[in-house]
Amino acid sequence: MLNEKIEKALNEQIKKEIYSAYLYFSMAAFFDAENLKGFANWMKKQAKEEFEHAMKIYNYIYEKSGKVELQAIEKPKCKWDSPLAVFEEAYSHEKFITDSIYKLYELSLEEKEYATSSMLKWFIDEQVEEEAQTEEIVQKIKMLSSSPNGIYLLDRELGQR
Ligand code: MG
Repeated sequence: MLNEKIEKALNEQIKKEIYSAYLYFSMAAFFDAENLKGFANWMKKQAKEEFEHAMKIYNYIYEKSGKVELQAIEKPKCKWDSPLAVFEEAYSHEKFITDSIYKLYELSLEEKEYATSSMLKWFIDEQVEEEAQTEEIVQKIKMLSSSPNGIYLLDRELGQR
């Protein structure tokens, strides 16, 4: 059986991962509306990954004979001032998710739910990559936005993901 506090916290994390997917999907829609297809492509791939994160926790809960109870997902933001503002928000959202994973990890140690701690290590490593890649794009947008073709070139690059 899965410890009750852990089960509740894991269900909460599923919600956060699905919200992340929803937020990135909303960012993709914003980019498609702006005709930045490469940026939109990157966000769609990211949204799909977030849904996979949710599924990973979902599968773990059932492996441990726990129960999944899906929560309501709030409406994500749908308007931003610039591509830079979008990626700055994606970066700060990833930092928020990292913090949430750390808290979950701490709880798993407190509750001596070591199998959960072990499962969460994958997420801790994944968050290093998630933060690094969103931050890298923020830096690239800043570097390229002063040149006339900058956003166009970056859009092409992100379209390759
Ligand atoms: Mg995630």
